[in-house]
Amino acid sequence: MFDDLTNKVAIVTGAARGIGLAYATALAGAGMKVALSDILDEEGERAAAELRDHGHEAVYIRADVSDQQSVQSLAKQTAETFGGIDTLVNNAAIWGDLQFASVFDISPERWDRSFDVNVKGVFLTSVAAARYMEGRPGAAIINQASTAPYIATPRTADYSSGKAAVITLTKTLAKSFGDLGIRVNAIAPGGIATEASLNKSVDLFADAAIAQQCIKRAGQTSDLIGPLLFLASDASGYMSGQTLVVDGGKTMTA
Ligand code: NAD
Repeated sequence: MFDDLTNKVAIVTGAARGIGLAYATALAGAGMKVALSDILDEEGERAAAELRDHGHEAVYIRADVSDQQSVQSLAKQTAETFGGIDTLVNNAAIWGDLQFASVFDISPERWDRSFDVNVKGVFLTSVAAARYMEGRPGAAIINQASTAPYIATPRTADYSSGKAAVITLTKTLAKSFGDLGIRVNAIAPGGIATEASLNKSVDLFADAAIAQQCIKRAGQTSDLIGPLLFLASDASGYMSGQTLVVDGGKTMTA
């Protein structure tokens, strides 16, 4: 079904672990050449090596998404290594290392860093990659949002607000890049069991939380792969600026 992805080129940010690693693995499995990017070099190098061991074309390229030069270099290196860029997955975010805190305990420095990585990172990486994606058939950007903005939890004001900004940025980038032939959509997962989410001080997968969902189980990284491949491929070729909520039916926004 996703044959159109074969031999195309993807960048996945925040790909050293968790959801990003699952995304990179799935895109490689669909036949794409994948640049895994992160600031966790050891894990990132290991992940890319494992994909190569399984016969896939994969490299690890370090990039801090909050740094313009860093993401420009990521886009350039990927295009030089694999001959272009077709798909960008903006997955990197400060999330695993984010402590839950009330608004009284979130410092201005934490707020700025959250927005630098979680919002500015999506903006900078998208603009850097778009220069290499322009005019390529099926070019697509997929941003990692979250259901946090819909729930408006008071524990992570910086994170929730930043992910709300990612949803709006998805729309503005979709309009900005429409003439370049690049579609831009987002995935908004609910709680997904990763090392990062399982280590939170609050149990995101407690019985009371799961009871609010239509589908009564914790979300897994595998639950996001169908939506990812759909948004990366021509199967969603008439969609842009949209956010797909994947949360077991917990939040219903429209
Ligand atoms: P994670 O913390 O394991 O993954 C985030 C990755 O981003 C890490 O590998 C981290 O090193 C990387 N990263 C952080 N700062 C970076 C920077 N400045 N430059 C480049 N890379 C950087 O968490 P995860 O659970 O795998 O979440 C991945 C994505 O999914 C995030 O965008 C998160 O907000 C989103 N999300 C997660 C859940 C969940 O329940 N796990 C739910 C909704 C959305």
